[in-house]
Amino acid sequence: MSGKNTILFGPPGAGKGTQAVRLRDLLDVPHISTGDMFRYHIKNDTELGRTAKEYSNAGKLVPDEVTIAMVKDRLSQADVKDGFLLDGFPRSVPQAEALDTITEELDLKLDNVINIGVSDDEVRARLAKRASIEGRADDADPAVIQNRIDTYKNQSEPCLKYYEPKGIVRTIDGIGSIEEIFDRIKKIFE
Ligand code: AMP
Repeated sequence: MSGKNTILFGPPGAGKGTQAVRLRDLLDVPHISTGDMFRYHIKNDTELGRTAKEYSNAGKLVPDEVTIAMVKDRLSQADVKDGFLLDGFPRSVPQAEALDTITEELDLKLDNVINIGVSDDEVRARLAKRASIEGRADDADPAVIQNRIDTYKNQSEPCLKYYEPKGIVRTIDGIGSIEEIFDRIKKIFE
């Protein structure tokens, strides 16, 4: 079986959050979602939340210094020693580099980058659908959706090239039912 330390990667709307809760239960590891962490801070109107809101409402990345410090703090907690599932981080090459430094310092190793592959058109359709169902502020406005897609293409997607030489990228087809996609993910750990 492959090691448990996993990054769930893919464009916005790929189904990372949906698959993450299933994978968290399968692996029995903490689910570390930077998007959820930011939403928690925004809901509670913390200082970090006020910074995050400005960026996430525009479909932009929250600045690295804020995001990286938050992830470092979370990965320093004892419960990640037996594995962790990162969802939504890293989202840029500088974040991936920072994660390498953090994992080295904390004596952790990355085992898998699961890339959920979904086309641009499918992403657009899914984000529009999610906006009407969940009412997420960052899914509602077409200009914000476009920003999130552009941010993914320009900043996040290059992470795959960064991880490829390490031989840990596992790309799965993100089109299908939730169960079909989860079955593809499960095979990685068999
Ligand atoms: P998500 O739920 O993962 O789509 O994240 C929602 C929003 O939170 C993103 O559009 C960003 O504004 C912010 N965010 C989440 N993860 C990161 C990250 N790794 N770096 C910077 N901003 C992030």
